[in-house]
Amino acid sequence: MFFGGIEAGGTKFIVGIGDSSGLITDHVEIPTTSPGETISIVVDYFLAKRKSIKIDRIGLASFGPVDLNPKSTTYGYITNTPKLDWMNFDILHELEKALLIPVVIDTDVNAAALAEYEWGAAQGKDPIVYLTVGTGIGGGVIVNGKPLHGLSHPEIGHLRIRQSKIDYKFSGICPFHKNCMEGLASGPAIFARWGVLGQDLSPDHIGWELEAEYLAEGISNLILTISPEIIILGGGVMKNDFLFPMIRRKVKENLNNYVTKKEILDCNDVYIIPPGLKSFSGLAGAIALASDN
Ligand SMILES: [Zn+2]
Repeated sequence: MFFGGIEAGGTKFIVGIGDSSGLITDHVEIPTTSPGETISIVVDYFLAKRKSIKIDRIGLASFGPVDLNPKSTTYGYITNTPKLDWMNFDILHELEKALLIPVVIDTDVNAAALAEYEWGAAQGKDPIVYLTVGTGIGGGVIVNGKPLHGLSHPEIGHLRIRQSKIDYKFSGICPFHKNCMEGLASGPAIFARWGVLGQDLSPDHIGWELEAEYLAEGISNLILTISPEIIILGGGVMKNDFLFPMIRRKVKENLNNYVTKKEILDCNDVYIIPPGLKSFSGLAGAIALASDN
C-alpha cells in the first residue's frame, strides 16, 4: 500500500511516495511560489505517479497556522501566515478537488512528531513532544497515538518564558509577543542578539548558556503540563549537539526533584534526545499522516 506525502514549507515543497513502514520510494522538491503555481506542480506529480502505482491517501504536513477543526468553515485553510499569497488559502480542498483522493492535513511539527512516534526515536512512548528549533520554534504533541489539536493546535514556540537577567537588553523578535520562546531562542533571535549566525558562535560562547536556559524553561513547562514520556529536539539550532547536556542539566535544576519519576530525576540522554529520523523527516511525517488514518 502506497501513500503520498507533501511537506509544505515556506520556501519549498517536498512531495513523494512512501509505504506504511515509512520507506520513501520517490521524492521531488518544488519551490514555494504562488499557491496556483506550486499546487499545480504538486498535482501533476501525483497524477503522473498514479499511472503506475495506486496511492490510497495523501498526507499534507503544512506550514501554518492551519485550521484543523473539521467543524470550521475554514477547515484545511492556511490561515494567518505572513506569506500573503498563501493567507486564507484552502490548500486541503484544492488538492482533494484536483486529485480526487482523501488528503489528511496537519501541522508540519505534529506530522514530524507522528513520524518519530511511528518509526523514529519515540516508538513505544506516549505522550510525546517534538520540538524544532530553527528559523522558528514549533512543537508537535502526540497523545494516545494521535496528534493533539484541541481548539486549534499547540503553538509551543510562543510559550512565555522567564528572560535571563543577563539578557535584559534584548527585547525579543517575535512580531506578536516579542520575548516568547521563539522570540528569544530561535535562530533569528540568536542572530539578532549577537549579530552573527549561531553556527559562528563558538561552543563556549555565553549565547549557548542562554539558549539552553530558554529551551529548558519551555521544556520544563511542557513536562509539567503534558507529562511526556520522551522529548525530541530537532531543527537547525539543535544540530549543535553540545546543547543537549546543557538543556538536560537546566531542566533538572528547574524541576528540582519535584516530579519523582526516574526519567525526570535522571533527565538524561534517553529522555531529551535528538530525532531518530535523519533525512526526509518532514516528508516521512506527511506519509505518517496518510498511513495513520
Ligand atoms: Zn511569539
